[in-house]
Amino acid sequence: MQRYCELCGKLIPQERLDALPQTRRCVDCARENGSDIDTRRAEIGMDLDTYRDLLRAVRS
Ligand SMILES: [Zn+2]
Repeated sequence: MQRYCELCGKLIPQERLDALPQTRRCVDCARENGSDIDTRRAEIGMDLDTYRDLLRAVRS
């Protein structure tokens, strides 16, 4: 399966798709514009502070 970056139109490397199947941006565009991380945060369904508290609770 091949996917092209939504911003620059370049082919997204297969290794990146393996690591981040949902990504729509190549490494360079994700680094410059963000995206993958923001998408994931939205999928978590809670704000970041709540998420941090949860992680802290799990670790302790
Ligand atoms: Zn790109």
